Amino acid sequence: MTAMMPDARPALPLSLTGPCPPWCAYVHDHAEWAAEDRVHRGADYDVTLTSVDAIVNIGGGKLWGIEPRRVSACLWQQCREAEPRVNVSHGEEADAVMYLTLDEAEQHARHLLALVAAARREP
Ligand SMILES: [Zn+2]
Repeated sequence: MTAMMPDARPALPLSLTGPCPPWCAYVHDHAEWAAEDRVHRGADYDVTLTSVDAIVNIGGGKLWGIEPRRVSACLWQQCREAEPRVNVSHGEEADAVMYLTLDEAEQHARHLLALVAAARREP
C-alpha cells in the first residue's frame, strides 16, 4: 500500500492575495516572491506599426534581424490594486511603458476613434 502524501503546495502562489481575475492570462509560479512578480497580466493586443522604421539588430558586423515596431496593450494589476490598469508599451525599455486607468484608457480610445473618423471622412 502506498501512503498518500498531501499536496504541500498551496492552491495559490503565496505572493497573491486571491484567485486570478477572469482576464488574467499569466501563469503564476509558486516561486514568485518579488513584489514586481505579484501581478495579474492579461493577453497582449499588438498592432504592428508600418509607418515607422523597423528595429535593425546589428552586432559584431552581422545583421541579426529586422523586427517591425509594435504597440502593445494588456490589462495589468498588482495583486493589491483595486482595479486593473491598461499597460501600453512600444518596446522593452522602462520609458516605453505607460499605465492608464480604465477611465483614461476609455477616454484615449474614444479620442483615437474620433481622430480616425475625422481623417476618413469624405470632404
Ligand atoms: Zn493572475
